[in-house]
Amino acid sequence: MSKIKVMDEILANKIAAGEVVERCSSVVKELVENSIDADSTEIKIELEEAGTRSIKVTDNGKGMERDDSLLAFQRHATSKLIDEDDLYRINTLGFRGEALPSIASVSDIVLKTSTGNIGSIVHIQGGKLISEQKGDARIGTTMCVSDLFYNTPARLKHMKSLYSELANITDYMNKIALSHPNIRFSLFNNDNLLLKTDGSGDLLKTIKSIYGLDITKKMLEVKIEDEDYEISGYISKPEVHRSNRNNMVTIVNGRVVRNTEINRVINDAYHSYKPDNRYPIVVLNIIVDPTLIDVNIHPTKMDIKFGKMEELCNLINKMIKNELSKKTLIPHIEVKEENIEKPIYEEISLNLDRVEEPDTPYVLINEDLIVKEPEIKNVEENTNIEESIILEEKKERLPEIYPVGLVHGTYIICQNEIGMYMIDQHAAKERINYEFYKKKLGNPTNDSIQMLFPLTIELSNNEFIILKQNFDILKNMNFDIEEFGINSVIIKSHPIWLPTSNEEEAIKKIMETIINKEKDFTIEKFNEKIATMMSCKLAIKANENLTLLEMENLINDLRKCDNPFNCPHGRPTIIYYSKYDLEKLFKRSGF
Ligand code: ZN
Ligand code: ZN
Repeated sequence: MSKIKVMDEILANKIAAGEVVERCSSVVKELVENSIDADSTEIKIELEEAGTRSIKVTDNGKGMERDDSLLAFQRHATSKLIDEDDLYRINTLGFRGEALPSIASVSDIVLKTSTGNIGSIVHIQGGKLISEQKGDARIGTTMCVSDLFYNTPARLKHMKSLYSELANITDYMNKIALSHPNIRFSLFNNDNLLLKTDGSGDLLKTIKSIYGLDITKKMLEVKIEDEDYEISGYISKPEVHRSNRNNMVTIVNGRVVRNTEINRVINDAYHSYKPDNRYPIVVLNIIVDPTLIDVNIHPTKMDIKFGKMEELCNLINKMIKNELSKKTLIPHIEVKEENIEKPIYEEISLNLDRVEEPDTPYVLINEDLIVKEPEIKNVEENTNIEESIILEEKKERLPEIYPVGLVHGTYIICQNEIGMYMIDQHAAKERINYEFYKKKLGNPTNDSIQMLFPLTIELSNNEFIILKQNFDILKNMNFDIEEFGINSVIIKSHPIWLPTSNEEEAIKKIMETIINKEKDFTIEKFNEKIATMMSCKLAIKANENLTLLEMENLINDLRKCDNPFNCPHGRPTIIYYSKYDLEKLFKRSGF
C-alpha cells in the first residue's frame, strides 16, 4: 500500500471515528460486543479514569489467528459479507468491522490474541502499525485502548465529565449483563470493582449484582405467552421506583432494545400503584419470530418495531396487572444498622446526566455483598416466609389489623401479631373514594337528584364554546344542563353520587376537566381524572380525629378495594414494621 493511500485511510478513519466513537462508552461497547461475538464466557473490563486514560477488555473467547489480528484494524477488511441469513440473525450483535479501525485511528491500541497456537501481539498507534510480534498461547483476546483521541485534541473537550463517562459505561454494562446472564462480566474503574456477575445464566442473580439484595427481594417474577410472543422477566414491586426510565430494560431475542411504546405500556400497567412520573425497575425478555420485528441498527442506539404491536402491548399490560393484583404490596420498612445512624435519603447526589438518582448503586457497590455473595435461593425463601404469613388471597391482601390510635390526626397506628402498621388516613380514604367513583362513573345509572335551586355558572366565551360542544359528556353522566343566557349554563339536576355538601365545587371541577381536555381524550381517562379529583376532595383531611370505630370502618372499606395499598396518586396508604424491626430499633434483639 502506498504511503498516500495509508494517510488517506487514516484520515477517513478519523472522520468516521467522529461518528462512531462518540464517547468512551462506544469503545467499551465495540470491544465487549466483539468479545461476545467470539463466544466468550468471561469478559473483564478494566478502565483507568473512566476510560479516558485506558480501556482494557480481556475475554476467553476463541481468539484470532495472526493474519486476522492484523486485518482487524483495516477498514472493511473484517466486515462479514452480509447475506440473507445475517439480516435475520438477531443474535449476532452486528455492525462490526467499521468501528475498530476508527478507534485505532484516534488512540493507541495493543491487541493480544491467540486461538491456542502461537499468539500474536499487535501495537497500533494513530492508525499506524508500530510493531507485531509473537505472544503467548492463552486462548482469548485482550484489547487495550489507551489515550483515546490523543491526536484529535478538539474531541477530548466533547467528552463530558469523568462521572458522566462512567455512568454511561456502567449503564451500558448493566444492560449487556442483563441480556447475557450466562457470561461472567467484571467491570473495574481504577481497580475498584463496579460490577461482577456470576455467569450462571440466572437473571435474578444478575439483577442482584446490579441493584443489590434489597431491590432483588422486591422483584416479582413474570411470565406470559401467546402464539407470537413469549415474555418473561422481573418487575419491581410498586414501592421501588426511580426518577427516570433508565431501569426499564427490554431484551428482544437476546438483544437490548429501545421502544418507548413498551416503556409506556409498562408504566401504565402500574397506574395508581405508584406515582405516574416515577418508573419501575423492569427486565423483560421477549422471544419473537425475527420476521415479526424490524430492527434499525445504528451504532449508538437500537430501535425496534414490532409487527403485532397492539397484541404485544396487551400481553405486557395483562402480565404486569395480573402479577400486581395478586400480591400483598405493603411496603415493609426494614430497619438496618445504618438506617439508625443516618436517614437513608441523605445520600449525596452526584450530578450524573443519565444516572441521576442517589439510590442507584452503580458506583456504590456494597463490599459485604461481594464478599459474602448470599445465595439467591435464600432470598426467595426469606420472601416466601414473609409472604406466607401475610395472606395472599386476592380479596384478603390486607391482613387482619387492629387500630390502636392516631398520630398527628393523620396516621392511624395498627397492630397484629406480626408487627405494627401505619395507615395514612387521607390516602386510605382517597383510595376508597376513588374506587367508589370509578365504579359509579364506569356504570352510569339514571338516578339523578333534582336540585332545590338550579345552579347557574358563568364562563368565559371560549370556555363556554368548548363546554357547549361537550354537553353530551355531561348529559351522559346524568347532568341536566342547558344553555342559559350569554356564556352561562344552568344545571337543574345532577347524578346521585355527587356529594350534596359541595356540589357546586365538584361540578365546576368536572367542567374544568372537560374544558381542558387533552387531544387524546377518552371517556376512560376522563372518568379516571374525575374519580381521582373527587376522591381527594372528599377524603378526610389531615388533622381530623377519627374515633376507633371510624378507624375500623375505614380499614374495612380499604380491605374491600381492588388495590388497598396505594392512593390514586400512587402514594402508599399503609406501611409495615415487623416486630423484629421494632426490637432492632430499641436494641432489644441481640446482634
Ligand atoms: Zn389528596
Ligand atoms: Zn393521593
